[in-house]
Amino acid sequence: MKLNFLTGHELIESLRSKKADSGQIVADLKKRFDEVEPKVKAFARPPDFKDAANFESQGCVLGGLPVALKDNICSDGDLTECSSRVLGGFIAPYDATVVKKLKENGAVILGKTNMDEFAFGSSCETSCFYPTRNPWNLDCVPGGSSGGSAASVAADESIWALGSDTGGSIRQPASLCGVVGMKPTYGRVSRYGLIAFASSLDQIGPLTKDVRDNALLLNAIAGYDDRDATSVNIPVPDYLRSLEKDIKGMRIGIPKEYFIKGMDPEVEQAIREAISKLKSLGAEFKEVSLPHTEYAVAVYYIIATAEASSNLARFDGVQYGLRVHEKAKEAGPELVSMYKETRGKGFGAEAKRRIILGTYVLSSGYYDAYYSRALKVRTLIKEDFDKVFRECDLILTPTSPTPAFKIGERTDDPLSMYLSDIYTISVNLAGLPALSLPCGLTKNGLPIGLQVLGKPFGEEDIYCLAYHYEQNTQWHKMKPKL
Ligand code: GLN
Repeated sequence: MKLNFLTGHELIESLRSKKADSGQIVADLKKRFDEVEPKVKAFARPPDFKDAANFESQGCVLGGLPVALKDNICSDGDLTECSSRVLGGFIAPYDATVVKKLKENGAVILGKTNMDEFAFGSSCETSCFYPTRNPWNLDCVPGGSSGGSAASVAADESIWALGSDTGGSIRQPASLCGVVGMKPTYGRVSRYGLIAFASSLDQIGPLTKDVRDNALLLNAIAGYDDRDATSVNIPVPDYLRSLEKDIKGMRIGIPKEYFIKGMDPEVEQAIREAISKLKSLGAEFKEVSLPHTEYAVAVYYIIATAEASSNLARFDGVQYGLRVHEKAKEAGPELVSMYKETRGKGFGAEAKRRIILGTYVLSSGYYDAYYSRALKVRTLIKEDFDKVFRECDLILTPTSPTPAFKIGERTDDPLSMYLSDIYTISVNLAGLPALSLPCGLTKNGLPIGLQVLGKPFGEEDIYCLAYHYEQNTQWHKMKPKL
């Protein structure tokens, strides 16, 4: 079998026993890239295979294996454009902390993956480059915004990848592409060097072919960082050890508000079957209530856009990426016209929509009615979870109400796109960890994802449950026919 089809831990083992060598792994990745990338378009630009070749594997936790990065994670000397024209040509002048940690653990960077512009979206269609396609069905979206990372792993073009998740951007594409994606607890992984979307919600996390790889990669990137004031100084457990724990007697909540109209019947069926499987393995289930769920989408799209409008104010042609300055004289004072032209040409439609929404909800006169109320409801959402976690260890839900949808199907209807996030955004609002893993395929051969939510810093329980489920099912072994 070609080495690019293996998982990270299998490759590390093969390197250790000298059944594989680094040159062959990268050669197989390159071959795969040449074969399928023209169809999938997972990368924002071609990876540098020369740089990745002949990595040093001995004694490295991650075996030296190449990692693909979402195009919003800075790596020193590399283009990092957030799939946006406004960051066109921006070369990161330093490594994000996660990249530094990957390198310290012996990993090399494979390249940058395509994404929704500035991580605004659930389909990878707002990228300024091109839409990424779902490896399981090239007419469908891979999900977003880390759609390129998820598709590259699902298509075996990368061994594993990092993404970022503000409202579901790791978990939803993981679900739609049939891979494993973890959004860690807010503060578990440093955000230093992640180009900010909404700073109170963003987290970086791993997208992998199975649960073991996910735990391995999180081991490498988690931990306190004095360069990110929101990172939390709590020791990082060995997540690999949590895979061996027992799930007998684990108490799992099923929120009644999540099984609603609009959920695809095949998704519901797959989740019900996953629950039966987990029951047979000894987990205990009970129905729980998260009564403020119905406000989550509205609250998220106020808070996230407010923070985005402020974070994106820095892209004005002065310091980063694109500068457009063609009609200085007619357009008024020079500096102002440069701002306007750069931002007008640099941002795509969805980014502009978010900047306008965010500016509106923060403007005087509306601030109290929208932003400040949204913060209060955010607290209520968080309290719903606190209550449930007093009597449960984990919560189980679908990751996405539907499997992958057709390219173009939701682009003219932002509201229907925003509703794709219904099961994922509460987790970000409450700062919790959550993972998506494959739990089925539809009649048409599209992956379905199961979401496991944990207590703050409860990643170990999540991995434990996910691993036991995975080891007793076959879903993670299924591959798209490309
Ligand atoms: N789909 C959500 C949005 O468009 C989440 C994006 C994300 O997590 N970056 O905001």
